[in-house]
Amino acid sequence: MNVPLGFRLLKVGHCTHPECITQRGGRFASVPFPALAALLIHPQHGPMLYDTGYSDAFFAATEPFPERLYRMVTPVSLRASETLDAQLARHGVAPDSIRHVFLSHLHADHIAGIGALSQARIFALRAEVDAMRRASRFGGLRRGYLPALLPSTFDARLTFVDDCVPIALPGWMRPFEHGFDLLGDRSVIGVPLPGHTPGQLGLLFRAGGARTVFLVADACWSLRALERDRPPTWIAAQLFADKRAYLATFAGLRQLLARRDAPVVVPSHCEWTWRQLSEASPQ
Ligand SMILES: [Zn+2]
Repeated sequence: MNVPLGFRLLKVGHCTHPECITQRGGRFASVPFPALAALLIHPQHGPMLYDTGYSDAFFAATEPFPERLYRMVTPVSLRASETLDAQLARHGVAPDSIRHVFLSHLHADHIAGIGALSQARIFALRAEVDAMRRASRFGGLRRGYLPALLPSTFDARLTFVDDCVPIALPGWMRPFEHGFDLLGDRSVIGVPLPGHTPGQLGLLFRAGGARTVFLVADACWSLRALERDRPPTWIAAQLFADKRAYLATFAGLRQLLARRDAPVVVPSHCEWTWRQLSEASPQ
């Protein structure tokens, strides 16, 4: 990871959910869960994205039943100033100039904005794509998949992360030992984080200064929950592809965080992380 990347965290809408479902010992009150995406600027490859957050396409895809149940269960809010287009414009990035988008997994809150990225090669783990393809309309919906959000060119633009060069991760990433060199220059390392879905992908890279960042998507829903060892309740865990794998990944992140040289861990829906990092780098 000797190529430092520009890094901006984007909040592309949010949903609300009772905290007590998402975290053992949480409050009964509904709390906001930001949908975070990351804009990375590579010195040669230009702007790249990790996930996309919500978009107007999400509302269109959840208009009919049964898909409407999705937004009834997790009410979603997306202000005009929060859309991916609006935020990319504020950073001087044209959507067509984005040539790489790395998808943590294919849940709607992570891929809904992908329609705007018509020129991007799409990276995802094979197990994730297979899981979405195998699912029925109802079964997929129950698991958070809305295939209508994927562009018609998805297959043609897809690179399976599994086909990238496998690499051994540095010792300070233990217990995470294996990753994939996504661009062939060791600037962006994909790290499988199984459990939440069959093929969830974390992203490890060096940002400005000496900071190393580990984007972990939904491997934990908040940093506090991770620090206090409060995994989601059994109700939320019903939605997970593999509960045992989820808990192993969660425990692995705890082990990583306990290290003095731990990277900055960024979950996709952590309000606290959003406040910390957006203050450090104003939008
Ligand atoms: Zn999510």
